[in-house]
Amino acid sequence: MSKTIQAVRGMNDILPAESALWESFEDTIRAWLHGYGYTQIRTPIVESTDLFVRSIGEVTDIVEKEMYSFEDRLNGERLTMRPEGTASCVRAVVEHNLLYNAPQRLWYMGPMFRHERPQKGRYRQFHQVGVEALGYDGPDMDAEHIIMTARLWKLLGLQDVALEINTLGSADARSRYRQRLIAYFEQHAELLDEDAKRRLYSNPLRILDSKNPALQAMIEAAPKLMDDLDDASRVHFDSLQSILKDAGIAYRINTRLVRGLDYYNATVFEWVTTRLGAQGTVCAGGRYDSLIEQIGGKPAPACGYAMGVERLLALMQEGGYEPPALPVDAYLVHAGDAASKLAPQLAERLRDAGLSVVLHCGGGSFKSQMKKADASGANLAIIIGDDEAAAGEASIKPLRGAGEQKRVSLSNLPEVLSA
Ligand code: ATP
Ligand code: MG
Repeated sequence: MSKTIQAVRGMNDILPAESALWESFEDTIRAWLHGYGYTQIRTPIVESTDLFVRSIGEVTDIVEKEMYSFEDRLNGERLTMRPEGTASCVRAVVEHNLLYNAPQRLWYMGPMFRHERPQKGRYRQFHQVGVEALGYDGPDMDAEHIIMTARLWKLLGLQDVALEINTLGSADARSRYRQRLIAYFEQHAELLDEDAKRRLYSNPLRILDSKNPALQAMIEAAPKLMDDLDDASRVHFDSLQSILKDAGIAYRINTRLVRGLDYYNATVFEWVTTRLGAQGTVCAGGRYDSLIEQIGGKPAPACGYAMGVERLLALMQEGGYEPPALPVDAYLVHAGDAASKLAPQLAERLRDAGLSVVLHCGGGSFKSQMKKADASGANLAIIIGDDEAAAGEASIKPLRGAGEQKRVSLSNLPEVLSA
């Protein structure tokens, strides 16, 4: 026997036993997004590598070390499996000129790819639900995004997810802050680790995000961007906070929240839980007002966020969530030539009437078929043997709970079962 082939490390199969949870989550997501007037966009999984380098930023974890990039063997194009959805969404919006006469509220859901060290809540293929609002510049839209996620947590029955917000200000404010940060970190050069040294001049804001315990005290005392903030961003941030207060949404300002992607400005936020260990961020986003222009579109402001589906599902399960059971209505048992000829047609007629029916395939005795019917989880068995076929009837046997077996004429069967 040849050696078995296994899935790629960090890329998971979602097996039948788990798919009910995924489907129930996806149903909730669709209804929730419809409730806010968002429509879905579906973009390809593979894009030009340049798209991500230009949008996410050269000196970020994702572009430096996490992307699945390859060269197209036929034409040498540099391609990448998408590590996130915003860049693709903006690319599609620009390419198809969707902002021509109206702003857009869009969402997407699907697999993303990052070459990270696999661990609980961190995979190489994982799934995101993303939401983007393009062409909106006010804090009312930032607030809509935060308020709608708060509703989603309720719909999913999640507890212990806390909101952290920050503002990264305008590009000018950030570049003033950058200089101040570099000067500060230079004063503490002897404390910096390898990562921090590498980022000191290329992306010093990311040092704030370091998890290295040895750096924490020094980072804690670093200058704050708030002190360099431009007036427009300050007004924007204040009014976001006042909308959140009016909506009764609790939050904490975290001045170290800088996000791992370069395209953000002004508002950034994360929803974090303490229930999932180190991988505690379940949702993250913010404003990216210059990304559309950066990708070649006519300048337009935008904001959005993405959620990690695996982390949300883990949190739902941790809270004891059980997806609704969806048993099929009937398992159709048949033996004998006449009955077996009749069975597929009968199954189709029942499905015409809106019933879900598993047609027994593969032959076998009544006894073995009944065992399969029991194991299928169906609500009842429909049985046709030679007797029934000759009489134009079927027997109905409840498989769960009480109720007697009875015979019904085939012509009445759809009505009887629907009732
Ligand atoms: P982290 O700090 O956990 O690496 P990130 O800042 O890289 O997250 P984003 O790019 O903002 O993550 O993606 C949004 C969300 O997608 C994250 O908050 C998380 O829930 C989820 N996510 C990101 N990377 C992974 C991964 N490798 N596996 C599972 N979920 C992920
Ligand atoms: Mg990451």
